[in-house]
Amino acid sequence: MVDGTSAASNGASDVPAEQDIYDVTIIGAGPTGQFAAFYAGLRGAKTLVIDSLEEPGGALTAIYPEKYIYDVIGFPKVLAKDFVEQCDIQARQADPMFRLNEEVLELERGEDGLIHLGTSRGQYLTRTVIVCAGVGAFEPKRIDVPGILELEGRGVHYFAKRVESFRDRHVVIVGGGDSAVDWAVTLEPVARHVSVIHRSKFRAHEATVDQLQRSSVDLHFPGCETTAVHADTDGHLTALSFRNAGGEEMTIAAEELIVAIGFVADLGPIKTWGFEFQRNQIVVDKITMATNIPGVFAAGDIAVYPAKFKLIATGAAEAVTAVNHAVTHFNPNARLDAGHSTNIMEKREKEAAATKS
Ligand SMILES: Cc1cc2nc3c(=O)[nH]c(=O)nc-3n(C[C@H](O)[C@H](O)[C@H](O)COP(=O)(O)OP(=O)(O)OC[C@H]3O[C@@H](n4cnc5c(N)ncnc54)[C@H](O)[C@@H]3O)c2cc1C
Repeated sequence: MVDGTSAASNGASDVPAEQDIYDVTIIGAGPTGQFAAFYAGLRGAKTLVIDSLEEPGGALTAIYPEKYIYDVIGFPKVLAKDFVEQCDIQARQADPMFRLNEEVLELERGEDGLIHLGTSRGQYLTRTVIVCAGVGAFEPKRIDVPGILELEGRGVHYFAKRVESFRDRHVVIVGGGDSAVDWAVTLEPVARHVSVIHRSKFRAHEATVDQLQRSSVDLHFPGCETTAVHADTDGHLTALSFRNAGGEEMTIAAEELIVAIGFVADLGPIKTWGFEFQRNQIVVDKITMATNIPGVFAAGDIAVYPAKFKLIATGAAEAVTAVNHAVTHFNPNARLDAGHSTNIMEKREKEAAATKS
């Protein structure tokens, strides 16, 4: 087990140790999974969240971070990336364990009633699962250049997570959509130098493209394609070569390369876990969000029932239903309806204060 394995679950005994078992594991950290994580924590469940992306937010992070959303409760108008940030703060209040950059590949219910999950990086045991997997695991689109895969994490990125880590670096960004342009203008004042390489016209918001064109960022477009990456003897990226529209080959300094050409989603492994599917969605009981596998629930875009709406708001409501039924699945004495968050949080704060004094 990647995280917190005890001797008991490592062969000393067949009985897994209590600390190795999660109450609720959420597959997918899109808005539905983020809210499910918060709600499971609110209900006192030991919660794990796993997502193939390096960052939470699902489709909002991968497809439309710079677009406004108008139909989520409490926000008259909010940028998708800002909404994701608030969801992340809310989810982390409930203290779930996040495993990002990790894809769930296997799900199997053992004879012990526990659910065994196999991921790209380890194994987990859980009493219940809530599948919030949207249209499948998001993966960044990669560019087909020899040696680039070995440089991932050694100068090659698909997200610009911490602006500070690009300070005084030669940064090259490949792409011309919202994320590429946004990162270029964000990093320009911090980096030593920023270049953008793109093969067609910029597709980002007009105002940000204007800002980019007025900046010191070197723009190589249209018709520019990356042809090679170069590394030092320590195996860290140092430079990048590209071919321009005239067929001329150029090499520029590149200590950090951000490939921002989009993401692809793949339902792949989930199709093999034994769910009942309707097109590419898991059929659930609308009352409980239970799937046909005992202990496994689904919510958000991946779940289907009659008159389903694929919206962030409905995903959140489904997450609450799924969590409440998951809790009564692993603890039949628990109440289905825990009441209002105000009362639960106030009670917790009082208990915490009493423990301190
Ligand atoms: C362009 C666009 C605009 C939209 N605008 C709106 C809007 O204005 N209002 C609105 O309400 N909705 C909007 N939507 C729909 C909204 O984005 C979805 O309803 C919402 O993202 C569903 O959330 P989710 O968490 O269920 O799934 P997703 O957001 O798709 O997240 C699923 C997550 O699960 C992860 N995952 C999947 N399989 C695995 C696996 N095997 N292992 C690990 N991780 C896995 C994925 O990587 C992903 O991060 C829009 C959608 C698009 C494409």
